Amino acid sequence: MTAPQQQPDTLFPRVSERYDDRARYPRGIAYTEGQYLPISEAKISILDWGFLHSDATYDTVHVWDGRFFRLDLHLDRFFSSVSRLRMRLSQSREEIAAVLSNCVALSGLRNAYVEMICTRGVSPTFSRDPRDAENRFLAFAVPFGSVANEAQMADGLHVIISDVQRIPPASVDPTIKNYHWLDLVEGVYQAFDRGGDTVLLRDQAGNIAEGPGFNVFAVKDGALTTPERGVLPGITRRTVFDLCARLSLKAEAAPLTERALRGADEVFVTSTAGGIMPVTRIDRAPVADGRVGPVTKRLSSLYWEMHSADEWSTPVRYPAQDK
Ligand code: PLP
Repeated sequence: MTAPQQQPDTLFPRVSERYDDRARYPRGIAYTEGQYLPISEAKISILDWGFLHSDATYDTVHVWDGRFFRLDLHLDRFFSSVSRLRMRLSQSREEIAAVLSNCVALSGLRNAYVEMICTRGVSPTFSRDPRDAENRFLAFAVPFGSVANEAQMADGLHVIISDVQRIPPASVDPTIKNYHWLDLVEGVYQAFDRGGDTVLLRDQAGNIAEGPGFNVFAVKDGALTTPERGVLPGITRRTVFDLCARLSLKAEAAPLTERALRGADEVFVTSTAGGIMPVTRIDRAPVADGRVGPVTKRLSSLYWEMHSADEWSTPVRYPAQDK
């Protein structure tokens, strides 16, 4: 008997078929331990240092209309974070890019939020020595989500400035993307208590730092300022600098005082989860006339336009039948 001819499609990874507790999870596909699983099936050990000590790093890239946006920059940041935490990945950059693409393709999503994670892992003896732990790579794709909902994108976010201070960079280096979010989550609760949509935290000097999953920009007299240090150097923040160069707008990373933020002509926040999102109220007071400003609108429309440009985007490799 001759071996069945292998069709190109059979080379495509398959989702492991096991009991699927779909109702309690968003749609999506995860990759763990060499397998692609429905999100509801993907688990990590309770002994993983990523869970026990937040000893993990990650990166999030999005897919819009079937294309990754600035995947190379996200992979650069992820590999840099991993090595600075003295972790090791057993997968190459190309293998990780293929895993991310497969997670999206298997989920069938055209617009997705895609996370790659490296945890310290489990020490087989439960020793306290991080060098004994076996680092672990995981990834998943779920439907695209945004910091701002549709109404907030149209009318602007109402942001509260919290009394909770952002973890200082001398304690946890924010340029290594991390899950140290207790300050940010407490800040979000404060924002809700005060009728806001979301929150900005200050740094040790009392200047504005960042919010839960986003950077912030103030526009004054046509020039943009975003906090220089004590924040994650966001890929969307970097993209705003690139777009400003194209539009001949002045943009700088410098200390941003609370006073400068409150007195700005326009304010917006930036994140892979939502792009460039307007802020029109701070602690109940309108930013300028309280409407979404022209610089924010211009940058935002160019930002979404660039999602189909080959220069900044990479197509997801969907299985042949979905093409
Ligand atoms: N700041 C923090 C703390 C974040 O977690 C994120 C993204 O998750 C950002 C800023 C924005 O970064 P990016 O534009 O790369 O999504």
